[in-house]
Amino acid sequence: MDFSRIPALRARTVPPASHIIDGERRAASDGNTLDVTSPIDGNLLTTIPRGTAEDAEAAILSARSAFDDGRWSLLPPAARKKAMLKWADLIEAEAEELAVLGVRDNGTEIGMAFKAEPLSAVGTIRHFAEAIDKIYGEIAPTAPDALGLIHKQPVGVVGAIVPWNFPLMIGSWKLGPALAAGCTVVLKPAETASLTLVRLAELALDAGIPPGVLNVVTGEGSVVGAAIAESHDVDVLVFTGSGATGRRLLEASARSNLKRVYLELGGKSPNIVFADAPNLDEAAKVSAAGIFRNSGQVCIAGSRLLVERDIHDAFVQKLVAHAEAMQVGDPLDPGTNAGAVNSERQLLQNLAFIDEARAAGRNIATGGTRILQETGGTYMAPTIVTGVAADDRIVRDEVFGPVLTVQAFDTEDQAVALANGSDYGLAAGVWTSNLSRAHRMIKRIQAGVVHVNTYGGADITVPLSGVKQSGNGHDKSLHAFDKYLDLKTAWIKI
Ligand code: ADP
Repeated sequence: MDFSRIPALRARTVPPASHIIDGERRAASDGNTLDVTSPIDGNLLTTIPRGTAEDAEAAILSARSAFDDGRWSLLPPAARKKAMLKWADLIEAEAEELAVLGVRDNGTEIGMAFKAEPLSAVGTIRHFAEAIDKIYGEIAPTAPDALGLIHKQPVGVVGAIVPWNFPLMIGSWKLGPALAAGCTVVLKPAETASLTLVRLAELALDAGIPPGVLNVVTGEGSVVGAAIAESHDVDVLVFTGSGATGRRLLEASARSNLKRVYLELGGKSPNIVFADAPNLDEAAKVSAAGIFRNSGQVCIAGSRLLVERDIHDAFVQKLVAHAEAMQVGDPLDPGTNAGAVNSERQLLQNLAFIDEARAAGRNIATGGTRILQETGGTYMAPTIVTGVAADDRIVRDEVFGPVLTVQAFDTEDQAVALANGSDYGLAAGVWTSNLSRAHRMIKRIQAGVVHVNTYGGADITVPLSGVKQSGNGHDKSLHAFDKYLDLKTAWIKI
């Protein structure tokens, strides 16, 4: 990114955002708005429509007719591909504007945001667009007197509810395969990260994706999100966010039309360092980045460090050095490597975990405090807590902040038991130079992704999925199509 553009881009006034419904920019049906406060300095950035249930219903109706009349699903695959590739080009052309707008909205440091947000959306949309005309049905191996055809058909209207940490990345993980499959979508961004997704939907229209195919309704989860979840016209619901909301969505599905619900609910991911790791300095550097970048607001963050007892003290020392060397602050300063905590609410939640650990006598090896309060923004020092117990809340629950807990282990079996002793199962890391041990750990750890001698960075070619209470279904890779394509059998007598 051309960092010299940042001052001009951050000085721009951000006009009030609109819903995008049926190809039109619309205000909330009752005209109400929600203030958007920038976590950088606590100042009012702009407003978004405070969507009503009526707005959500209008968007669902639009998506329903756009699906039913085939304006998108019945286009030749090559035409859908062309529109989506054009869309990716338009996003790429505006990547710097989108990155800065997103950072002003949600606080992620710009170095990470530029790659993880607009550029990852571009890559994801291209990945799925390019697959559109390469998805084949199947012919079943039947007896000669019958022909069994297996068609793959779009599921219909998709409701997508996404969080605030990486709105474009996670949004495009849902939009890319859903739209490529021929579905239509009603998207509900998080209250504190809506601006870039609204712009994405405007660019979709500019790219020739027909009105009604991608609708965005902003506002509160309990109103707009709930209306999508309760709708009888939404066929599939895809979600990334908290377990509590995930449970509500399942209940809403059960109460309404039994729509399929796919959940990505975060984690409490173990990062396991054996004394035989190939390079402990590298392990410490990457492990620190794996929890502290974006101030820990990363679903796969390696938030539980499990370290072999022999190297515990030395390794913690290295980590503390990395944590204290991090430049935390203004996310639009290119030198910053941990930006703002997304909201005051989130920051207070993080600090409550620390207070509790402190009260229980745990050792705060570094951090544990709010910093830079004079800026008006929401910042927290990278924090490492040692001497914790397996049933401490800070070890069990997802903090979703820059907070790392450290536990020591003596044997591989103990490491596995600690790693799997969690309700979650999203990601894990293993650091070892013993190839056999690496493979044993990959098999034994209950997680959707196990990193070996690295942490993070898995690209769009591989699935991301949770096990246990981290959720179900897959984002990313061609497996993501499974959520958006139904199999239909045609059985023909010959
Ligand atoms: P967090 O606590 O990290 O903000 P949430 O699960 O509350 O996580 O938020 C993720 C997304 O779910 C956001 O878009 C939010 O608006 C939405 N959401 C929150 N509550 C509900 C609800 N009751 N029904 C549907 N969506 C909701």
